[in-house]
Amino acid sequence: MSLCLLGEKCRFDGGESRSDRLTGLASEKQFIGICPELESGLLVPRKRCEIIGGDGSDVLDTKARVVSEDGSDLSLYFINGAAITLEKAAKSKIEMAILKENSPSCGSTHIYDGTFTGQRRTGHGVTAALLKRHGIKVVSDEHLKDICI
Ligand code: SF4
Repeated sequence: MSLCLLGEKCRFDGGESRSDRLTGLASEKQFIGICPELESGLLVPRKRCEIIGGDGSDVLDTKARVVSEDGSDLSLYFINGAAITLEKAAKSKIEMAILKENSPSCGSTHIYDGTFTGQRRTGHGVTAALLKRHGIKVVSDEHLKDICI
């Protein structure tokens, strides 16, 4: 599960995205909380990042980039964070990943559109795309009705 959904202050702005429903589930079931961006070595707080030129799948294929609001290309951090997350997921034999929507790492149906104007587009974040490529079921925190556990 995205670590910020469990109340960890790992968002770029130093905040969290705690979900009482998911925190409740986490106390009943076995969940691993992970933040791909922290795993990659990025810090809190950090610059806001968005994907330019595509979505997370395109970033994995080097057809799009993850760029911070000051223009730095941080794609490699996001790819490394996704790879570390996949490795931990595989080691733990997870059944599904519940990820925070809209994030350039964790978004599973929508991400911000790369204009830094708050507009969203359909697409995956980098971690969500890599987990899906490896056959892991990815569920958005905004689609809790899809979680039959
Ligand atoms: Fe939350 Fe994922 Fe962003 Fe980390 S990378 S703060 S877990 S949405």
